Amino acid sequence: MGRLEDIEKYAEKENIPIMQKDGIEFLENYIKENKIKKILEIGSAIGYSAIKMALVDKDIEITTIEREQKRYEKAIENIKEFNLDKRINIILKDALEVTINDKYDLIFIDAAKAQNIKFFEKFKNNLNKNGVIITDNLNFHGLTENPENIKSKALKALVRKINNYKDFLKNNEEFKTFFSDKGDGISISKKNDEK
Ligand code: SAH
Ligand code: MG
Repeated sequence: MGRLEDIEKYAEKENIPIMQKDGIEFLENYIKENKIKKILEIGSAIGYSAIKMALVDKDIEITTIEREQKRYEKAIENIKEFNLDKRINIILKDALEVTINDKYDLIFIDAAKAQNIKFFEKFKNNLNKNGVIITDNLNFHGLTENPENIKSKALKALVRKINNYKDFLKNNEEFKTFFSDKGDGISISKKNDEK
């Protein structure tokens, strides 16, 4: 049986941005309280959040997408160690290039932060009725508050894109979004009832 602490240590050593403690706790509670069973995750990294989510309940099934070969391989190894390979299906591909036909109760977006709008628009069609889209890292280590103070141009551009995504969610007429400061900042977007 694998140990979550080992994955956490590996992530720290290799600088892999897995979910923060209270962020993943929030997600686990949300899954439990809302009896979520089918999950699509964009951005598996080494499988940490997928494993944590799958451990919430034995009926949970997850499809997760990762584009980096090395992380994908590590994720496969970790998922096997937890005997979760029957319930977690991992795809090695760029999420923007993969076609997913199934419907999910939860879509968890935790990949390239500049592409959040694209992920949202692409995968919103894979939501079940009453499904929800949760996105991670909307505070981006607190940087989204004062983007003017950021020196690096690339970082400033990235933070602007995250703020654009927040505006996109705030102004979205199809979805209602709730923002939480848990972990690195999380949004929970639910489709408005159809009229
Ligand atoms: N959800 C993980 C952490 C994911 S880190 C956890 O909390 O345990 C973000 C990951 O998304 C990285 O491994 C990165 O390679 C991957 N990624 C970024 N853009 C992607 C894309 N377009 N398609 C698939 N994976 C992507
Ligand atoms: Mg994250």
